[in-house]
Amino acid sequence: MFIDHEYIERILEEAKNASRKDILNVLERAKKREGLSYEDIAILLQAEEKEDLDEIFKLAGEIKESIYGKRIVIFAPLYVSDYCVNNCAYCGYKRNNKFPRRKLTMEEVAEEVRILERMGHKRLALELGEDPENAPIEYVLECLDKIYKTQSDNGEIRRVNVNIAATTEEEYKMLKEAKIGTYILFQETYHKPTYEKMHPHSIKGDYNYHLTAFDRAMKAGIDDVGGGVLFGLADPKFEVLGLMMHNKHLEDRFGVGFHTISMPRLKKAEGMTLKQFPYLVDDEMFKKLVAIIRIAVPFTGIIMSTRETAEMRRELLKYGVSQISAGSSTGVGGYKEREEHGADIAQFELSDERTPKEVIKSVLDDGYIPSYCTACYRRGRTGEKFMKLAKSGEIQNMCEPNAMTTLLEFAIDYGDKEILEKAEKVINTEMEKIKREDIKKALKQNLEKLKSGERDLYL
Ligand code: SF4
Ligand code: SF4
Repeated sequence: MFIDHEYIERILEEAKNASRKDILNVLERAKKREGLSYEDIAILLQAEEKEDLDEIFKLAGEIKESIYGKRIVIFAPLYVSDYCVNNCAYCGYKRNNKFPRRKLTMEEVAEEVRILERMGHKRLALELGEDPENAPIEYVLECLDKIYKTQSDNGEIRRVNVNIAATTEEEYKMLKEAKIGTYILFQETYHKPTYEKMHPHSIKGDYNYHLTAFDRAMKAGIDDVGGGVLFGLADPKFEVLGLMMHNKHLEDRFGVGFHTISMPRLKKAEGMTLKQFPYLVDDEMFKKLVAIIRIAVPFTGIIMSTRETAEMRRELLKYGVSQISAGSSTGVGGYKEREEHGADIAQFELSDERTPKEVIKSVLDDGYIPSYCTACYRRGRTGEKFMKLAKSGEIQNMCEPNAMTTLLEFAIDYGDKEILEKAEKVINTEMEKIKREDIKKALKQNLEKLKSGERDLYL
């Protein structure tokens, strides 16, 4: 198996002796974008002194800025079914939790989608528990079809990323044909003994089957896969190295590693207490982990959900996070429920309860460009092709203008006066920074077209 536990533990142990000089040497290498070895990453993970951490944050911030500019991709999760046959120790949907389970009918899916569209969303993450009987692959395919076909006024969902349980190559082929964006699956923990403890007596309990899910997905033709761990289950340093090994395995075998890495932290959920978990990650450690992952895999998007507080998300945007969810509900039928009653039954507790408009305003106030761009996937820039463009820096020529175009589209269709003003201000500032005249011209044309009523414009 490609997650070599002994090796990870040994290099973490050895890195405990790293000096300040060793840390700075690694950072020097990272600056040159020469790629870091596992030993290098282990050294950074052991950094504790404030001055070392400051250096790590500084470099992570520089890398973030140089690759992602001011863009922040915005998305929302859509929970369609809370049926689950598994019993994951950390999850509110586990089968031992007794509550009336439900899955959305296709009419209800459409209703949720229309609400999300009215919030301005263009990119969703489809979420559901594992239950081959109540929510088989056919149900997922039906949901996808419904989501893509549900369009109202200017609202349309242009990319659906899918987070379903590890499955067979055959079912991944079906997802590919249904035009999913990224296939997302969290390993939860790379530490096998912890994995087995957290997933007792369940389908999900098979560590190797879960770990090799992306191999099957990629063999089935899915180009973009998104990994992640649930920080808090096992030693976070071990988890970061696990993520890196998994990424390397995919790069070696398929020519491209993770498209994104998600960084959820364990949160209180129904039927568990946080005291059960000895590896909870505090804020300082969490910031360090995000920054190190940004340095180690500069071209992989980092996703942060509304599990984190507004302050934490704001801070982490500086060090590495490139995608955030906004206005999320983590309950089945939760968007409608919230519109009508203001509450929902959730998979876990949220910390950032702001509406998408509030999130967008604060992101704009910090000088970022909230982006609803989904261009690459629709232009066939996925997998290895995407990574080549990203690594050569060429993707920037598309991302920045597309971010501005989709921001203006959002502001016109779903924003208020304040958002429109803030958006135009950020767009005017950022447009001036575009060096290539042809790109600037194309952007200006797209902005004009938007104002005269055209939609869905991208490079
Ligand atoms: Fe089910 Fe997923 Fe929750 Fe585990 S984490 S109990 S598989 S919904
Ligand atoms: Fe993402 Fe591609 Fe759009 Fe850039 S151009 S924001 S990489 S979809």
